[in-house]
Amino acid sequence: MTNHYSLYIDGKWIDTDENYQIRSPATEELVATVSKGEVGHVDAAVSAAQGTFDEGTWRNTPPKERAELIKTVAERLAARTDELAALQSRENGATIRITGALHVGLSAAQLQYVAAITEGYPWETEGPAIEPVPANGLVVRQPIGVVAAIVPWNIPLLTTVWKIGPALAAGNSVVLKPDEHAPILPIELAREFDAAGLPPGVLNVVTGDGEPVGAHLAGHPGVRKVAFTGSTAVGKSILRQSADTIRRVTLELGGKGANIILDDADIDMAVDGALFACMANNGEACEAGTRLLIPAERRDEIVDKLIARGSTLRLGDPLHPATHVGPIISAHQRDRIVEYVRNAAAEGATVALGGSVPTGSGFDKGYWFEPTILVDVTNDMRIAREEVFGPVLTVLTYNSEDHAVQIANDTNYGLSAGVWGSEQRALAIARRLDAGMVWVNNWHVIHPAYPFGGFKESGLGREGGPDAIDEYVEEKFISLDRSGGIENKAFAIVIDPAT
Ligand code: NAD
Repeated sequence: MTNHYSLYIDGKWIDTDENYQIRSPATEELVATVSKGEVGHVDAAVSAAQGTFDEGTWRNTPPKERAELIKTVAERLAARTDELAALQSRENGATIRITGALHVGLSAAQLQYVAAITEGYPWETEGPAIEPVPANGLVVRQPIGVVAAIVPWNIPLLTTVWKIGPALAAGNSVVLKPDEHAPILPIELAREFDAAGLPPGVLNVVTGDGEPVGAHLAGHPGVRKVAFTGSTAVGKSILRQSADTIRRVTLELGGKGANIILDDADIDMAVDGALFACMANNGEACEAGTRLLIPAERRDEIVDKLIARGSTLRLGDPLHPATHVGPIISAHQRDRIVEYVRNAAAEGATVALGGSVPTGSGFDKGYWFEPTILVDVTNDMRIAREEVFGPVLTVLTYNSEDHAVQIANDTNYGLSAGVWGSEQRALAIARRLDAGMVWVNNWHVIHPAYPFGGFKESGLGREGGPDAIDEYVEEKFISLDRSGGIENKAFAIVIDPAT
């Protein structure tokens, strides 16, 4: 029997008139059906979230107990790693090599980390004595209210826990909208929170289309904060929608990561690293290294090695442990990639490897694109400026370190970057790059204790890291009068004490 996933509103699992058919992008087999939510379900979910928030059951639960519940969910997730990893690979085509470690393992670790920092978080701190008023001061950090969490299909579980972990840790209520292409793991996560005893209404899940359901949630007057991961275009629309009510917003958006190989790098390692940077998660990663910058004088040698190593990448069944690159999420997304590569060739790029939709055994069903390397790319080409979101590596050359930095920073994005070479030299360049994450001699290193997020049009705010909870609290200063008499009070400066 096919698994079915419902909406989750006010602690109840709710079926709707219509279902999404979630099909494997590799085989088109039915993986699950998922209830399709409408704007009315968003209204019900926001209302449940607000009601629970007003009652205060969760926000008044001591932080230590909130942390314990989050920890329990982390442990349940970790215990189900293999099962959930396989489910994720079947649902969105990410390879089993990384769905275990990255999608599920890192999500569980992220929740463990949030639980740990919840206990030590400064929920209420006393500041220094205030003179000459005199007064004492407290800083109270309290939940914001109803948080909308909107997540994409490429790494659904991690992008979800980045939001709802700290949001729940802080005592907020949440309405989560998974992506309609890959909602299963976020709903599995809600099942675990439900089983762990999270009070009804604190976490709600409404799977629905971006338009109108996501847009309705993001603009809902009951929502006080939107945490969004997805495309820059939608991120901008959410920011505009939030202006009227000065709603809090965190945005994790697209990227066009520059990956610089220096001439003193271990070239074999850097070439493998460049392929990993670009092709992991089938190239469907916002932090992918999609612009490879190589020294002009070493161009031929490096390109030859890239082609040789790139040719060994195995495209195929995402559930097979030997597969490096799986299918593309949908026909629509595959067609976008085809169009980007065609356009790049028209602009003067050369296809050095791949570049086509594969045919033959194993590729008659599903949506595929070959691991592709484009050379002779310049930074003004569309392929170098826009996010392709597929297994397409572009190779550009530079003439000096300054030139490499200039090309790397010449982009509207600023999510990720990387440098391969001797550490001190690479570190000096890393400091000059406009990106939220810069990896020296590695890539895709994401850790719960370090922040994730972007400069420029790649986002606003950070997820994960030691300050993750800060994004989900309002800070309040409370002053307590210590003057001991009206004559000493600050307002006596303008109003004479009664005689
Ligand atoms: P998308 O913006 O179309 O969709 C993301 C989510 O937003 C989905 O849940 C979708 O239903 C919803 N949505 C769509 N239109 C909406 C609207 N008008 N209002 C509110 N919600 C709406 O993104 P996509 O193309 O499906 O996903 C890939 C994008 O996500 C890429 O650009 C990628 O770089 C980005 N991404 C960023 C990060 C990061 O942390 N920076 C991580 C993963 C993915």
